[in-house]
Amino acid sequence: MARSYKILALIGDGIAEEIVTEAIKILRTSEETFGFNLEIIGPYPFGAKYWFDSGRKTAWHPEITRDLIYEADGIFKGPVGLPGSLEDVKLNYEVGFLPVALRSDLDCYANIRPCRLREGVKGVLAGKKPGDIDFVIIRENTEQCLAEATHFGGISDISGYFKRAGKIELAADVFIQTTKGCERVIKYAFELARKRRGAPIDGKKRVTCACKWGILRGDSLFKRTFDEVAKSYPDVEADSAWIDGWTYWAVMRPEFYNVVVTPNQYGDIISDLSGALQGSMGLAAALNAGDQHAFAEATHGSAPDIARKNIANPTSIILSMGLLLNWIGEKHDDSRLKSAGAVIDKAVDVLLSEGKVKTPDLGGSNNTKQVGDAIAEKIKELYIKNKA
Ligand code: ATP
Repeated sequence: MARSYKILALIGDGIAEEIVTEAIKILRTSEETFGFNLEIIGPYPFGAKYWFDSGRKTAWHPEITRDLIYEADGIFKGPVGLPGSLEDVKLNYEVGFLPVALRSDLDCYANIRPCRLREGVKGVLAGKKPGDIDFVIIRENTEQCLAEATHFGGISDISGYFKRAGKIELAADVFIQTTKGCERVIKYAFELARKRRGAPIDGKKRVTCACKWGILRGDSLFKRTFDEVAKSYPDVEADSAWIDGWTYWAVMRPEFYNVVVTPNQYGDIISDLSGALQGSMGLAAALNAGDQHAFAEATHGSAPDIARKNIANPTSIILSMGLLLNWIGEKHDDSRLKSAGAVIDKAVDVLLSEGKVKTPDLGGSNNTKQVGDAIAEKIKELYIKNKA
């Protein structure tokens, strides 16, 4: 009997319920179209709402066990967090509900965040057209600002609070970077650059190291490691920029960038910038990938301002499904999943370039479900067209 792939689906907060429904629709469509089998487990709720609804006892549905998390061939989740939840010290530092725990626990050390201005999307930078912006951020995902902020893994008892009479008077966060942690994510970036088209400006395969070396010790280690790893990739140009300078150049000259590798917190921040550069956070996909495990999520948060209005753009999580299927396909050398990953991306391109079905963030008036349905249709059409 053909192997089936186990996918664990987790919901989250805010717009999560609306967009996770569409993600599942796309997985089902891909399965039917490309002839593989998925065992989708869930979707189970977790997150801030679940925490408050449980009377501040648990943030995770009991079916989400560690065994399940480890057994799954892939995981995906909707965004998590609600206003007020980040101030809940018990939730954040004892119970844990943020995906950062999964990132460390599953050792998903590379957070892959593509940024491409697609045909049919109005860019925010004057004079930049589709094709001018096409880079991928590779964010280190288990160290630096998040070395300790983990529920299952990480280093305990380094950062913390100093309390006097029960009142927090001092807070300390310790950032840690290791040679191994830097090396593997930097190699990941160079390997990716080898597979990708070069930068839009000159077609060169290029990896840019963005951090603040020479000032912060951890970032100096990151840069030193980058310079060392780069020697093994003479076919890829090694470029570097201080992270503050990078944000300037990403706006002024985005076409120069191809693959950008950066320590954790900078990656978090510049990912929102790259969301804007692609025209909407609703298009910003992400995959947390390691050697053994991967989980997909959109780059954006739970967007409570638009939750329950059925206007959230599901494209970000749908593109993340494409990245996940491709990762599983590569791991198991299964061309059906790799093709599904590529066709999901292409289906989004076709839909956006037609410009008929789009949510309000892109200037349209369609709802979340209509966009999910339209992408599913495009996947089927492209499959038939490719076969003909
Ligand atoms: P976080 O701080 O956890 O990243 P957030 O909800 O405060 O989460 P983002 O999710 O980064 O912030 O999004 C910023 C804004 O972008 C949202 O308030 C929302 O208006 C818009 N946005 C985010 N995701 C989508 C989406 N999928 N579709 C449409 N608009 C979105």
